[in-house]
Amino acid sequence: MPRKCLMLILDGLGDRSCPELGGRTPLQAARTPVLDEIAAKGANGLFHPGSLGRPLPSENAHFTMFGYEQSDFPGRGYLEAQGAGLKAGASDVCILAHLAALIRKGELLYLKEDRPQASSVEADVLIEQFREYQKSGVSVRFHQTKGLFGVLILSGEVLPFITDCNPMVEGRPLSDILPWSKYRDHPDAVKTAAVLKSYLVQAHQHLEDLDLNRERERKGLPRINGLVTQRAGQLRPVLSFREKFGLRGLSIASGTVYHGLCSFLGMDIHKVKDTDQPGLDLAQRLQLAQASLHEYDFVHVHTKAPDEAAHRKDPQAKKRVIEALDAGLGCVMETLVNDPELLLVVTADHSTPSSGVMIHSGESVPLTFYGPGVRLDRVRAFDEVSGATGALSLVRGTELMDLILNGLDRAKLEGIMDTPDDQSFWPGNYRVFSLK
Ligand SMILES: [Zn+2]
Repeated sequence: MPRKCLMLILDGLGDRSCPELGGRTPLQAARTPVLDEIAAKGANGLFHPGSLGRPLPSENAHFTMFGYEQSDFPGRGYLEAQGAGLKAGASDVCILAHLAALIRKGELLYLKEDRPQASSVEADVLIEQFREYQKSGVSVRFHQTKGLFGVLILSGEVLPFITDCNPMVEGRPLSDILPWSKYRDHPDAVKTAAVLKSYLVQAHQHLEDLDLNRERERKGLPRINGLVTQRAGQLRPVLSFREKFGLRGLSIASGTVYHGLCSFLGMDIHKVKDTDQPGLDLAQRLQLAQASLHEYDFVHVHTKAPDEAAHRKDPQAKKRVIEALDAGLGCVMETLVNDPELLLVVTADHSTPSSGVMIHSGESVPLTFYGPGVRLDRVRAFDEVSGATGALSLVRGTELMDLILNGLDRAKLEGIMDTPDDQSFWPGNYRVFSLK
């Protein structure tokens, strides 16, 4: 039976039927002989990290895929801060923030351009206008992570239960910063919302008055005149991945949020960079994973490429990316399938529709388990529809990690208590019986 798991996540792989692809999804339309071979020799199903129909962001989906409940999720802002190596205190609130081009109409601000282009020199000048702020005993500091993007860290008596102001879609007015309904009478949540709003108003005023923006306007470029915020977070202690599942974990990914999440869960992380050749990137990550399997029991290999192609709203581009990834997987396939100790799990974190306005969508994604002992079925293609008739059926949420423990012969029979904690894996790290 397998002793190690390699979990390959093709981010945002799931999609919808596209007229330009003859009514097929990009994955169905793509030529994927390697993924199809894995499906043909594996156990197949569909997966959704939460409830069907509910779109999840990558970080929430991954949190569940690693076996954690959403109620313990610390928020993307906190994870980005972790991933970027920022020092956030246990009670600090971390919020994603980036500079955008806004249009003022009366007292309202509209999102004109969510991701305007600016040089690094311009970015420095812009950020200097709002780097630090203090009000009502709360200090606010903007930490740049890349270009016009960063994380706000709020210190003082603050809570992360506040709304976003980024409307996500260009042309829409910014949404107000409010405490969540459940916390509307909590003084710290009320104060956090009020301080953040006042900071954003001041940032907008300072940016509006900037010579740099007048100069940009003269050149026909949009004024970069506001900060938009979203997804506040705060530390919530959780059991490490190793304590929770008894597995030594490694993540190989390129995105800051995955570095933040996996280090938050106590996994080791290997940071890699994306190039314009996603297939080659994937082949190298898989080779690295294989070389690491003697040290780790669980290796997460991630590629963001299908998600990014889908966000460009180009089904053909997503199809091409999927074909490149399939070729990349093909480079290492032979050694993967000949490893009798390996359980290979291939799936995605969510669907990202390459048409329409939705950022992510709520359909399930394909899932394949490949390795000794998995139940073989009649599925012959790796896609969003074929998996529905497979042996795994529909897998939801934390069941994925349960199935992995089960596939590794590490799932604990209900009722066994070999340690004082009712952990999900077996054998536990129990204290040995002594005659003394
Ligand atoms: Zn994702």
